[in-house]
Order: sequence, then structure tokens, then C-alpha cells
Amino acid sequence: MSSLFQIAVFDGDGIGPEITLPTLRLLERVTQGRRYSLVFETLPAGAQCYADTGAALPAASVEKARAADAILLSAMGLPHIRYPDGTEITPQIDIRMLLDLYAGVRPVRVVRGQPSPLKIADTTALDFVLIRESTEGLFHTLGKGEVTQDYARETLQITRPVSEKLFNFAFRLANQRKTAGIGPGKVTCVDKANVFRAFAFFRKIFDEVAQDYPNIEADHTYVDATALWMVEQPQRFDVMVTENMFGDILSDLGAGLMGGLGLAPSADIGDNHAVFQPCHGTAPDIAGQGLANPMAMILSGAMMLDWLGQEHGRPEMIEDAARMQAAVDAVIAEGNVLTRDLGGTAGTLEVAAAIEAAL
Ligand code: NAD
Repeated sequence: MSSLFQIAVFDGDGIGPEITLPTLRLLERVTQGRRYSLVFETLPAGAQCYADTGAALPAASVEKARAADAILLSAMGLPHIRYPDGTEITPQIDIRMLLDLYAGVRPVRVVRGQPSPLKIADTTALDFVLIRESTEGLFHTLGKGEVTQDYARETLQITRPVSEKLFNFAFRLANQRKTAGIGPGKVTCVDKANVFRAFAFFRKIFDEVAQDYPNIEADHTYVDATALWMVEQPQRFDVMVTENMFGDILSDLGAGLMGGLGLAPSADIGDNHAVFQPCHGTAPDIAGQGLANPMAMILSGAMMLDWLGQEHGRPEMIEDAARMQAAVDAVIAEGNVLTRDLGGTAGTLEVAAAIEAAL
């Protein structure tokens, strides 16, 4: 069994390199003395890469990412660097399509000391996962939408094969959480089946897949009510699964419940590849100042270790992922070394050092 894991790293634009550096250092620390190791290769891509070379996601980078065991990405894009059609370059979305990363995993978790805006009595009861389909839905015509003088048209596409894989992923995750004692074993399909035939189709496939998981509760909600309940009764959710655009919006709401984007990690997972990255963007307003919160990136690194451990049957890696997450939780609970977005005064490297010390 190989104990060397190749990790393709995209350190991206804006605050990307600032949060990547301490994350790689922490991953190196956590794996020290273990029976496996990670080999990092940093690859070019992003808005600056587009400005410099004309390619936002060079083919050679995609091939190397494809060959790697996992992909770690910080954030890409800069508002002032755009394609001629006026849209921003988004290699972080393109790679989901290229590698068929259909399951976007967005954990929403609040730990002790975390400054959640929620008014519920015990915010630490908040622990659910939003799964966002990431290759079709309303992103189907990404970059190919029709625009004339008089109208603009984008197309929403939902297919049976992708939906079946997506729902199976969600039910397997609910099962895993139930076994680990984290969740009650419930999957909620979030749609707009009351209005759109495409979503009635989405829901029908969900109900069919649910039949294969009799020990997991299957539930439905409409997306508009879901936004309300995520704020008013977030404890009702365990695993939620939804279309691409709905998931795009709800995952930022989830990040808001967690007290901001600086704490929200994510994974985009397919059958053969996976990308791990924070939910936030490149934060150009604070880039280059050493102020960025590295926690979402570090937690994404922990999710990567966990996924590699699950995929390759390596309990040691799963333990190390839990150690990294616990170290971040401890620094939040302590509350002394936090970046400005969490009400503190510390810089990126001070927070990373505190997490390393907590390890
Ligand atoms: P953003 O997430 O970059 O920033 C929104 C706000 O959150 C800003 O005030 C920023 O300072 C703050 N913020 C974000 N991450 C932070 C962190 N780690 N620590 C502290 N504060 C943080 O969103 P935006 O301003 O809408 O987008 C900026 C650029 O990033 C755009 O070019 C956009 O296209 C791109 N973007 C990329 C991704 C990605 O790569 N996954 C996601 C979203 C936006």
C-alpha cells in the first residue's frame, strides 16, 4: 500500500498564497513521524496566471492535478481581471466540471467560542452538512449563456446519472455521520419542486435513491423555506442535498451562521478526484497585509486528510485530520489569538502558530 500521497496545490490569487503557506506547514507538522507522507506540488492557475499567460487554468496544471491523489486549492479570481465578455475568470469552478466533482461538501459547524450570529440557546448543537451538486444545475451553461440586445438566457440542467450519484453520496455521508455519533441519520432534499418540473424530477430521483437506505430518514424542504429554517431551526438539518445554484447561495448562508467565511471549509468530490478549498474568495481588500484568517484553509486541509484516509483505508490519516480540526477548535475556544474577522487582532501567521502549538 502506497504511503506517499501526491498533493496538487493551487495557491491562487489575493490572500491565496498567504493562507496556503501556513496550511502546508501544518500538514507537514501533523504528518511528522507518521507512516505516510504528503508530497506537495504547487501549480500555476488563477487570475494573475491568466493576465500573465492568457491561460487561467493551463492544460499542464490540469493534467498534474488529475494525476495527483488530492487537490488543495486556496482561492482564485481578482475582480479587475476579466474575460472579454465581462465575466471573471473562475478556474476553481472550471476544475469541478473538468474532473466531474459532482458533490460539493459544505460543513456548517459551530464550536465553543465561535461568534455565530444565531440566537439559539446552544450554538454548538449546530452541525450539519450541505451537499451542493457542482457540475450541472443552473451552472450548466456557465460561460455559454446566450445574450442578445433584448434577452439573456441560461439553462438549468438536471440529469439522472449525476443526481443518482449525488444522492447516494449524501445518504452514505448521513450513514457515516450516524455511525460516528455525529448526526441522527437524515438527508433533506432541498428543491423547488412545487414550481419547476425539473425539481419535481430531482425530487423523484431522490425518493427512489432513498429506498436503498431504510435506516436513514429522507426529508424534503423548499429552498426558500430552507433559508428561513437554517436561521430559525438549524438543528433540524443533518445532511442537506441540493442543486448547484441553490447550494451556492445556501452555502454562504451556512458560512454566515458559522460567524463568517474565514471559518468555512469545503470539498468538491467526484468518483476519482477531489478538491479541497475554503469557501471564501481571494479577499483582495486585505491581500498582502498578513491579515487573512487561515482557519478555513487549514480546515480544508484537514478534510483532505480525512478523505484520503477514508479512501485509502488509513485510520492514521483520519486521526490526524481530527487532530487538526481539534487544534483549530481549541484556538477558537481559547479566543486569545484570532484574526480581525473573528473580533481579534492577530495576523495570519500568529493564528497559524497558535494552531500549531495546540497540535
Ligand atoms: P471574498 O470571499 O474574497 O471576500 C468577502 C469578504 O470576506 C471580504 O471583506 C474579505 O476581506 C472577507 N474574507 C474572505 N476571506 C477571508 C479570510 N480568510 N479572512 C478574513 N477575511 C476574509 O469574496 P469577494 O470579495 O466577493 O470576491 C473576491 C474575489 O474572489 C473575486 O474575484 C471572486 O470572484 C473570487 N472568489 C473566489 C472564490 C474561490 O476561489 N472559491 C470564491 C468566491 C470568490
